[in-house]
Amino acid sequence: MLIDTHAHLDYPDFAADFDDILKRANEAGVTRIITIGTSLESSQRAVELAEKYPNVFAVIGVHPTSAEDAPDDVMTPLRELAKSPRVAAIGETGLDYHHLPSLAVAKERKSQVINKALQAETDDEIESGIHDGAIKDKQASIFQQQLDLAVELRLNVVIHQRDAWDDTLEILRDYGRQVSGVFHCFGGTREQAEEVIRLGHLVSFTGIVTFKNGASVREVAAGLSLGEFMVETDCPYLAPTPFRGKRCEPAHTRLVAESIAAARGISLEELARATTETAEEFFRLNGA
Ligand SMILES: [Zn+2]
Repeated sequence: MLIDTHAHLDYPDFAADFDDILKRANEAGVTRIITIGTSLESSQRAVELAEKYPNVFAVIGVHPTSAEDAPDDVMTPLRELAKSPRVAAIGETGLDYHHLPSLAVAKERKSQVINKALQAETDDEIESGIHDGAIKDKQASIFQQQLDLAVELRLNVVIHQRDAWDDTLEILRDYGRQVSGVFHCFGGTREQAEEVIRLGHLVSFTGIVTFKNGASVREVAAGLSLGEFMVETDCPYLAPTPFRGKRCEPAHTRLVAESIAAARGISLEELARATTETAEEFFRLNGA
């Protein structure tokens, strides 16, 4: 009995065959699914799905890459949505510096031989640098509001972090043990995993552990103690081998779990029991 702890069931990718997807998940032993909001609208849809389907639970939040388009105050509307008893955590929230405008400009510049020869900063670069700062500030504000709300409502937090490790931990540090999060789609080192676990957080692993070039993440997953991590799909993204590149769906949680179990030399049942127990506690699925 597995739980897909991170799915985006509200995405249009699943609209056409939603019931089949739930059926296939159930047949694969994935009996519960946590659907994760990425904006206010997506969070609203997540709550609606969780209220309609008994095996689906909602996490509500604003993803850092949606921060720019979000209202300045996300706390008020999220607090309203959190009134649903089907809300299991806050998120996904965090920091994502992977798509900052300056990086796009830098990439473009690299491809322009003439510009490369010029040492001076271009107007584009100056402007994008200012824009970077504004985006980072907005992401931080949206992240902090969600952490504040998690403290207020005594909920845990689903954390998205990309190319922003130090800043993410810095913001979390202010909350000490008041907030516990899961670093979802974990792709860091053993040391990074141990660092966040020491601070009272968890990590979770996606289909990346099944990839040929996912050996290092698989080793991290094999090296942690049971109780320190969960499994997820992050569907529709990151379909595990042999479905890589195709649409991912919650049933694939089983492939993620099988891969980690094999790397640890334990049975799928043992891994499922432990990760499910961890998820039940983290998302308060037993009404605790
Ligand atoms: Zn996600």
